[in-house]
Amino acid sequence: PVATAPASAPRVIAIANQKGGVGKTTTAINLGTALAAIGEHVLIVDLDPQGNASTGLGIERKQRRTSTYDVLTGHAPMRDAVIPTAVPQLHLAPSTMDLSGLELEIGRERDRAFRLRTALHNINNGTPAFNFTYVLVDCPPSLNLITVNAMAAANSILVPMQCEFFALEGLSQLLKTVDEVKKNLNPNLSIHGIVMTMFDSRNNLANQVVADVRQFMGKQVYETVIPRNVRISEAPSYGKPVLVYDLKCVGSEAYLRLATEIIQRERAMKAAG
Ligand code: ADP
Ligand code: MG
Repeated sequence: PVATAPASAPRVIAIANQKGGVGKTTTAINLGTALAAIGEHVLIVDLDPQGNASTGLGIERKQRRTSTYDVLTGHAPMRDAVIPTAVPQLHLAPSTMDLSGLELEIGRERDRAFRLRTALHNINNGTPAFNFTYVLVDCPPSLNLITVNAMAAANSILVPMQCEFFALEGLSQLLKTVDEVKKNLNPNLSIHGIVMTMFDSRNNLANQVVADVRQFMGKQVYETVIPRNVRISEAPSYGKPVLVYDLKCVGSEAYLRLATEIIQRERAMKAAG
């Protein structure tokens, strides 16, 4: 491989919410695709033993020869797990069910919370194959050791929140975990933002929930709201991001807007130091 410019570290964003079914995996896949479509080099790290991000990107089990389990248990370097997807500039480190045993395997090790951070350190090596600008970590629906690894490795956290009555329930627990990780493991960790998902504008309650979350969390909530869109939910069964499945649908448009907003926020964060 030909060496290019000196390697710089990617921005690492953990997509986390201990609730299941709020749109974490959908956001990892489609935000990753949207970022790649506008020129970023993206690695999605699947840290959910369910492997939905891997399946949704069309990566079958037999293609997952080296997985995030192998990486976090120290049996393989991250670069060995990285595989291309059908989307240019979008790569994946897939997961397998083994990952559900991580806690038993490494739960007593001193460095147990830093396995992902160590694995991502120097992921970019100055070659064209490893020059990621963004790493998106798809977390499991839990605040367990896997999620703590993601938070310890991340620059920031992106929280998908479903537009439903109990949206804010559980948020304080999530924020408490973020604070603990900041205190003990990763002092520079920040909340990148909250993205409201599965929004149905015809539903008065959904409108009220978005208003309430904006009032409560202020500017941390992205302008972009992801609509409930059947194309978004169909796409994974074809192993495709929605932007590949149907570029023109409202779901694809929303994820492109979110990607733009995230890059703008990154620039503002960088400018602010
Ligand atoms: P999580 O990873 O938080 O468990 P998922 O991203 O898997 O949540 O989403 C849960 C379910 O909701 C999936 O079946 C997904 O296809 C569907 N879904 C997610 N976002 C949308 C959306 N904006 N519109 C319609 N369906 C969605
Ligand atoms: Mg998921």
